[in-house]
Amino acid sequence: MIPHGTLISEVGAEAIEKGFGVPIFGSRKLLNWESDRQLKEKLMKESGIRTPRSFSSPKEINKLAIVKLHGARGGQGYFLADSPTSFQEKKRIMEKKGILKKGTPLYIQEYVVGVPVYLHFFYSPLRRELELLGVERRYETTVDAIGRIPSQMQEGVMPSYVVVGNIPLVLRESLLEEVYRMGEEFVRTAARLVPPGVIGPFCIEGVYDENAEFVAFEFSARIVAGTNLYILGSPYSGLIYEKPLSMGRRIAVEIKNAMRSGSLAKVLT
Ligand code: AMP
Repeated sequence: MIPHGTLISEVGAEAIEKGFGVPIFGSRKLLNWESDRQLKEKLMKESGIRTPRSFSSPKEINKLAIVKLHGARGGQGYFLADSPTSFQEKKRIMEKKGILKKGTPLYIQEYVVGVPVYLHFFYSPLRRELELLGVERRYETTVDAIGRIPSQMQEGVMPSYVVVGNIPLVLRESLLEEVYRMGEEFVRTAARLVPPGVIGPFCIEGVYDENAEFVAFEFSARIVAGTNLYILGSPYSGLIYEKPLSMGRRIAVEIKNAMRSGSLAKVLT
């Protein structure tokens, strides 16, 4: 059992799956897949979503790559490398600065040049329907600060990806069809690979490249911080519901409907 008073973020997905004795809204198994980079990649690939290449060893790095820690860390401790040598150099700097502990397992992924976009979905197991409730981008230091420095003076500035806030976004309309297709395929694949699959909120996170094609580097199998932007609803939730609806309220509505129809087992794990 998890000791009383422990914060969920301190516990980790595995302990939530096995040791958290209270029923939760959402899939606890999927949280585990979210926190394991290999499983995460498998689910996205099998959903037919374009994903960046991952490198199984630093020796394989032959193009610009982003090096990440496992688990959700709000971009903390990430760095870029474009060769095995630059990987070792950057890693040493990060360890020296105390940002990275020696021996920490790292995940190396191709860096996709494009603009980051976070898609907030809600899947209702009761209505068997997918809703896009919001879109945002993150405000990350120092990567979003680098364009403010003249390029001749950027030497020595290491981009980092620490999230400090979220910025609302509305997508070009023609992109929405693919967004829904991607979300629906994700829901179908999660039901097959990690039953019972998605329950409620999830987020697909990626970048649109130079051809306006979406490449997903992450998913979150839960409510994400960016939904805070839309406490009174978003341009997308407004198209589905005619009253202000936050992601939190959408969860509450699903629980209430499940209680009324005697279907709580469909939304709790
Ligand atoms: P994450 O913790 O994976 O959500 O990543 C934090 C930030 O790093 C993202 O918001 C992006 O700015 C950046 N990022 C992560 N993965 C990639 C990637 N493969 N290509 C380009 N940027 C990335």
